[in-house]
Amino acid sequence: MTNLGIDIGSTTTKGVILSNDGLLLNSLITPTGSSPVLAASNLIAELSKECTPSKIYATGYGRGLVSNADKRITEITCHGAGVNSIYQDACAIIDIGGQDSKAIHLGNDGSVVDFAMNDKCAAGTGSFLDNIAHKFNISYDSMLDLYLSSDKRVNINSTCVVFAESEIIGLLAKGESMSNIFKGVLRAISMRISRLYSQVKIPHESSKVYFTGGVAKNIAMQEALKEELNAEIIVDSNAQFMGAIGAAHLARRDTIKER
Ligand code: ADP
Repeated sequence: MTNLGIDIGSTTTKGVILSNDGLLLNSLITPTGSSPVLAASNLIAELSKECTPSKIYATGYGRGLVSNADKRITEITCHGAGVNSIYQDACAIIDIGGQDSKAIHLGNDGSVVDFAMNDKCAAGTGSFLDNIAHKFNISYDSMLDLYLSSDKRVNINSTCVVFAESEIIGLLAKGESMSNIFKGVLRAISMRISRLYSQVKIPHESSKVYFTGGVAKNIAMQEALKEELNAEIIVDSNAQFMGAIGAAHLARRDTIKER
């Protein structure tokens, strides 16, 4: 018996397959591109090659498009289930994807107690960071060095990417260093995330935050969040797959229940 979870995000589509005893057998990722249906069906076909899954659960903004899904579940529930399947004591999650960001508070049993989400505006998401990085030719690999070499606080006040770009051009023209500006960009994103985080009322004694979504792979962003939240930031090696992992675990739980 295997179970499959698929997460159709705005930027990437992720799929995982779990074994009978809940082990991660395979995980695949592909850009969602202009056809979320095609991205999802290709991943499902590839992951089902060796063994037809008992159930397919879908999550992500495109979950409604997966016609052969047995169930469609929100990303919030799935990120919660994914993190809880690996870290049973987790109580706080921050998920930053391509187009949205979320703070999630989990109860002792791993269920979602509360959440706050930003999906109306790109500020505080991966696409805000990607746009700025692209415009100013900053690679993912160079971000941590830039962040760490900053020696002065510079505030970026614009939250819209177009205005932020002009603000950065203005600062560069005044002789401000790219590292100080870049740290300012990451601080601005972290401050938005921190506002979401404070809305979900995580208990004070909890100082561990589980960071999921593609942006969790960004080490400079991990550092910026650590500084802003004054918390330990934990990033699983499968952080970007956490929604798909959660969907697959929920599928497995239901498959077992029905036996
Ligand atoms: P979604 O589920 O919304 O499609 P993801 O959770 O897959 O989004 O996250 C996509 C974002 O992850 C990208 O916009 C990018 O900012 C970030 N990202 C992806 N890979 C990396 C990487 N190797 N290093 C840093 N950031 C990354």
